[in-house]
Amino acid sequence: MAARHVKIIGPPGSGKGTQAMLVAEQLELRHLSTGDLLREAVSDGTELGQKAEEYMKAGLLVPDEIMLGLIREQLDVLEGGGWILDGFPRTLPQAETLAELLESKGLAIDMVLLIDVESEEIVGRLTSRRVCGDCKAVFNLSMLAEGDESACEKCGGKLITRPDDREETVRRRLKVYEEQTAPVLDFYRKSTGVTEVAGSGDIDEITAEIIRVMRG
Ligand code: AMP
Repeated sequence: MAARHVKIIGPPGSGKGTQAMLVAEQLELRHLSTGDLLREAVSDGTELGQKAEEYMKAGLLVPDEIMLGLIREQLDVLEGGGWILDGFPRTLPQAETLAELLESKGLAIDMVLLIDVESEEIVGRLTSRRVCGDCKAVFNLSMLAEGDESACEKCGGKLITRPDDREETVRRRLKVYEEQTAPVLDFYRKSTGVTEVAGSGDIDEITAEIIRVMRG
């Protein structure tokens, strides 16, 4: 049977968010991204957003107690059908707590997908990423017409660099990823198992490969 309770993991800029969104759409799963939930909270100026903003801007992880509160709020969603978790859990305490919360509902993650991309490719990808300040569409400098690199092709809004996409912040995020995520991967290697998918190349081909792997 196809995996329906999936966690996607990979370095920042590996395309895990884009892939989680595409795969969720095609397989009718919920896409739960803690990064998206936090960015929404920041732009809405909620208490959670105010607590999280400084960590996010600095490329650091938001503390576990804040993240665990957020994921407890999403438990109803997790009970309700198939899903792909994107960006959570990112630390060992998060992974352990999530496993307990799921178990209390008779659930478990049935597949962990690791999207594999080399660090230097990631630095190049993220430092050339631009986001529309209005409609949030995401572009890469290489996709934009020369001389027209500051306006969104979709809505005309101003394109900006995400504060956490500056080079030194990207390098810090990669280091944080390696340090914090290694124990999370070990945890899943010992329990669910970890399936690697190459994350370089054509976006649609990577989506197709992920779906093939999920169908087993
Ligand atoms: P992402 O979009 O998944 O790269 O997340 C963007 C930022 O949100 C990260 O760099 C962290 O600051 C924060 N964040 C997202 N998910 C988590 C998490 N599970 N634990 C801690 N911080 C997180």
